[in-house]
Formats: sequence, C-alpha cells, structure tokens
Amino acid sequence: MGKSAVAKPTNGSNSVAGALRNFGEHLADNGLRFTSERRAIAVALFETDAHLEAEELLLRLRRSGSRVSRATVYRTLDLLVAARLARKVRLGTDHNLFEHILGRRQHEHMVCIGCGQVIEWFDPQMDRIVERNTKEQGFTATRYTVQVFGRCANCAESDS
Ligand SMILES: [Zn+2]
Ligand SMILES: [Zn+2]
Repeated sequence: MGKSAVAKPTNGSNSVAGALRNFGEHLADNGLRFTSERRAIAVALFETDAHLEAEELLLRLRRSGSRVSRATVYRTLDLLVAARLARKVRLGTDHNLFEHILGRRQHEHMVCIGCGQVIEWFDPQMDRIVERNTKEQGFTATRYTVQVFGRCANCAESDS
C-alpha cells in the first residue's frame, strides 16, 4: 500500500464489538456516558450498510420498540462521526445521510435521480488524481468526496 496524501476516515475498527469499544472510549474522553440509548443507536447504524437519514434511523429504532428521543439520535450520530466510526454525506438533497465506516474503505457514491439508489464505488486512481492536483496548488487535502448523479441501469432501461 502506497502512502496516500489523503487521510483515511476510518479509525481502524472493523467489528461491531471493536467499534462499540472505541465509541465508549470516545464518549469517556469527552466526559459522556455510554448509555443504553447511545449503544442502541450505534448498533442500529453499524448493522446496516445503507445511507440513512437520522429520521429513518429513529423510525427503525422506534419500530423495534426503542423509546429513544429524536434529539438523542441526532446527537449520537454526530458523536459517531466525531469518533470516526460514521460518515455524514449529502447525496444531492438537503438531508444529511449517515453511513458507518466499519470495514469499509474510502468510497465514492453514484446517486440515481430516478429511484434514489446509491451505488458505492472505488477507484485507486482517484487518490492519485486528487494528490496530483492538490499538490500543484500547494493545497493540503484532508479529505475529498466525489458524487456522480444520473440514472441507474434499471431506470435507464425503463426510460427507453
Ligand atoms: Zn434508478
Ligand atoms: Zn457510502
């Protein structure tokens, strides 16, 4: 593996148990308690590979019988991002979406404007392109994101 100019977002946790431990440490470092609500929210996010709005996560928790508050969900998601266990992305709408980053490498997104499907993709060339271009500008990159909007194969087919 070559040295990348761009810092990787993950803090190295690849298992849910490890991620929960890291989250607990992050909370303790910030003088916060690892409550059962925070734990339930973290597990709910770690268990899905979807890109979820906070409201959708709240709905899922409520459906499974949790009485966690909306404010706690929003705050906990931000804490997970701060702990580098989740990423906040905007995929063409005004809404923030959250995705966990356990065991997931850096990836970019393709978003279908027809059905909303999100496809993750990765190309090692992208790091090099960003590195070359930022270097030319004397710019130090800490992160980057590429989003591609268009129509997925299914939507393109039903169009024709
Ligand atoms: Zn589509
Ligand atoms: Zn993603």
